[in-house]
Formats: sequence, C-alpha cells, structure tokens
Amino acid sequence: MNRTDTAVSGETLVLERLRALLATHDPTTTEARTFLGARFDAGLAWVSFPQGSGGLGVSPSLQAAVERELRRVGAPDESERNVIGYGMAAPTILTHGTPEQQARYLRPLFTGEEVWCQLFSEPGAGSDVAGLGTRAVRDGDEWVVNGQKVWTTLAHTARWGLLLARTDPDVPKHRGLTYFVVDMHAPGVEVRPLRQITGEAEFNEVFFSDVRIPDVQRLDAVGAGWRVATTTLMNERVAIGGGVRPRSSGPIHEALAIWQDLPRPPAAQRDRLMSLWVEAEVGRLTNMRARALRRAGTPGPEGSVAKLKGAELNKRVYELCVDLLGMTGTLFPSHYEMHRPDRSLLSGKADVRQLFLRSRANSIEGGTSEIMRNILGERVLGLPGEPRSDKDLPWAQVPRN
Ligand SMILES: Cc1cc2nc3c(=O)[nH]c(=O)nc-3n(C[C@H](O)[C@H](O)[C@H](O)COP(=O)(O)OP(=O)(O)OC[C@H]3O[C@@H](n4cnc5c(N)ncnc54)[C@H](O)[C@@H]3O)c2cc1C
Repeated sequence: MNRTDTAVSGETLVLERLRALLATHDPTTTEARTFLGARFDAGLAWVSFPQGSGGLGVSPSLQAAVERELRRVGAPDESERNVIGYGMAAPTILTHGTPEQQARYLRPLFTGEEVWCQLFSEPGAGSDVAGLGTRAVRDGDEWVVNGQKVWTTLAHTARWGLLLARTDPDVPKHRGLTYFVVDMHAPGVEVRPLRQITGEAEFNEVFFSDVRIPDVQRLDAVGAGWRVATTTLMNERVAIGGGVRPRSSGPIHEALAIWQDLPRPPAAQRDRLMSLWVEAEVGRLTNMRARALRRAGTPGPEGSVAKLKGAELNKRVYELCVDLLGMTGTLFPSHYEMHRPDRSLLSGKADVRQLFLRSRANSIEGGTSEIMRNILGERVLGLPGEPRSDKDLPWAQVPRN
C-alpha cells in the first residue's frame, strides 16, 4: 500500500466511524458524557492515537475534519473545560504512560469526568522550571511529596494533576526530576485561589504536605521527569498558540465587529486594523502549514513560533479593541467580584474588555515571550546559547534565595 492509499483508507475509516457514531448517538439529545464516551470508543477522540486509546492510528491531519463536522452538528465538547487535560495531559500520557495508565486516564479525561491541571511552576521556578524544589521521597510503593506550586490553572476543578517533583537533589537539576500523576483530592493537597487582574481566580496556589502518591502513578522512569515535562511543554505551546481557526475569527473577529459597529470608524485606525488582520492571517496560515507537516508525536519548535506570535498578536488586537471603544473601553463589565470559573477566559466567550485584561497574561503563561525567543534563537537559528552556570552542578549546591 503506498502513502496515498494509506491516506485514503484512513480518511474512509474516519468517515465511516463518524457516520456510525452520529447514526447511533444523536449529538443534540444524547447526554454529553455518553456521547463523548462513544466518540472515544469509536476512535474519534484523537484520531492519531492508537486504537483502544481514543484513536484510529491514522494521520492527525484528519482530526480537523472530525472537529468541523461535530461542531456543525452541535455535538458536546469538553475541550474548554478540560483544556490542560486535552492539550497536555493526553499527549503526555500517550507518549510516556504505560498501557494501564492510558486505559485508566484517557477516557474519563476526554469525557470531561476528570479535569486535569499542570503543577510545574513554583514561586522560585517559573521560566527555569528545571530548578524547582518540590520534593518527592520514596517510601516503599509510594512517594511522599512536600512543597508548593503556583499559578496552577483550574486546580480547583481538577481531579488529577501533572506533577513535576525533585526526587534526587544531588545530581544536576534536569536529571533529578520525576513526573507523577497526583490525585488533587488526596489528603495533604491544599488549593488556594489567586485573583487576577480580570477579578477572576482561574489559577491557584497548591500546597503539598506529606501527600502520598502510589508509584503506579509515576509517568516514565525515576529521573526521567525532564524528558516527560518537555513533551508536556511542547504540546502546551501548540495548545495555546497552534490552533487553526477559520479566517477572520478569534480576537481579530472582535476587532472587526467593533469596527463595523462604529457609527464613524476613525480613518486613522484603519491601517492598524488591516495590519493586524494580515498578521492574524499569516499566523493562521503558518499554523496550518505546521499542522500539515506535523506527524503524530511531540511537536517541534514550530510550537514556540505559534506561542510567541499568538501571544504578542492577541495583546495588540485587544489593545486596538479597547482603543476603538473609546471611553466605554475603560468601563469594566461587572462589579469586579471574585469568582472561580470552570474554564479559562482564553476560550474567548467574554466581554472584550475582560479579554483585553486577560490577554496581558498571554505572553507569560505557557512560557514567556522572552523564553520563546531564546528557544527559537538557539534551536532554530542556531545562535549561541545563554551562559548556564548551574547546568552541571548538583541541584543541592546551586545558590538560591
Ligand atoms: C494565566 C497564567 C496561567 C498559568 N498557568 C499555569 C499552570 O497551569 N501551571 C503551571 O505550572 N504554571 C502556570 N503558569 C505559570 C507560567 O508558566 C510562568 O508564570 C512562566 O513560566 C514564567 O515564570 P515566572 O512567572 O516564574 O517568571 P520568571 O521566570 O521569574 O520571569 C520573570 C521575567 O524574567 C524573564 N526571564 C526569565 N528568565 C529569562 C531568560 N533566561 N532570558 C530572558 N528573560 C528571562 C521572563 O521572560 C519574565 O519577563 C501560568 C501563568 C499565567 C500568567
């Protein structure tokens, strides 16, 4: 069978499965979890995943057609409520998890029964996440965890967390890390809200006091945590910036809609709007090309291009939106009461003034724009790396405050 035959048979298989799913489960009347469970079992959750793990083992390029069709018929979707589960936990578990772990975690993740969060950043380790200090110490078949994480998005709704912890302080920082799945409801896990500029608390501080994690919840080998974390981070960048939306949708759609509603659009801003539209379209086409080139597995540095470009563009588009709104752009759409949402405002269904405030975080979350530029400089352009004085020192000997 040549490549074209394989692609055709993959497409046929996906279409057959899609037709059968919709024939047996009315997307508008079937209960969301039942529908999503059936979608998972049909191999239409992530078509490139292996059969039995929510996929059909076919090209990831066929996923877009599945999403388009299911959106068109109004099928339920939990991807926004479980954004870290879909974007990061699923590919990480697929790449590094045992068959038992895949069987345990992937289906309830996809149906939205179990929401996931990411426990990497700490007060003393954000950009330099490999320098983190949360300790996991082995005790028979369990690990005992103590430490603190911060900026943990949706920790308050999560059942499971992707935890990166230090298991060996006496080797250089990248080598002493191990990756776990932690039960967010386990004794000793405390989640406290952190309020953001939008008034909401999407994220949290998470404290671990003698939390016990069974060894069967370790992902990959002891000491292999950095390798696993790299899979999560590469997928995070694609999840944040690498989506391919229809032309003129997303943030640039907001700017166009505001422009079209203005009784007298300011001519001087037309040039700014058009430049941003062109940039949004170039970003969209770049992401399309990256998606087409990407094969199943861990994405490459194109994720950093998408993350950097998307973050900086979002901020400028929302700045234009509030500028176009004039004085009303300075009003806040609520009494600024604090609440803990069950999804990130990133999903874009909010007041544009809230989105303007939320967009300030785009160039920080998932790795800052400065760090994306460092990655692209070193890995794509081949520029000399930054001096890294602590790289080969045992973590315990690195001076820190
Ligand atoms: C909305 C939001 C949601 C988040 N959700 C999560 C989450 O769910 N889970 C999680 O683990 N984390 C999360 N984070 C944390 C995020 O990953 C970190 O904030 C980010 O990696 C930066 O780390 P830091 O805040 O410690 O800043 P620092 O690393 O202290 O950086 C401070 C400044 O120094 C710059 N800088 C640092 N190092 C370098 C360098 N080598 N070269 C050039 N400049 C440098 C940075 O760009 C930045 O401007 C979230 C953050 C935000 C804003």
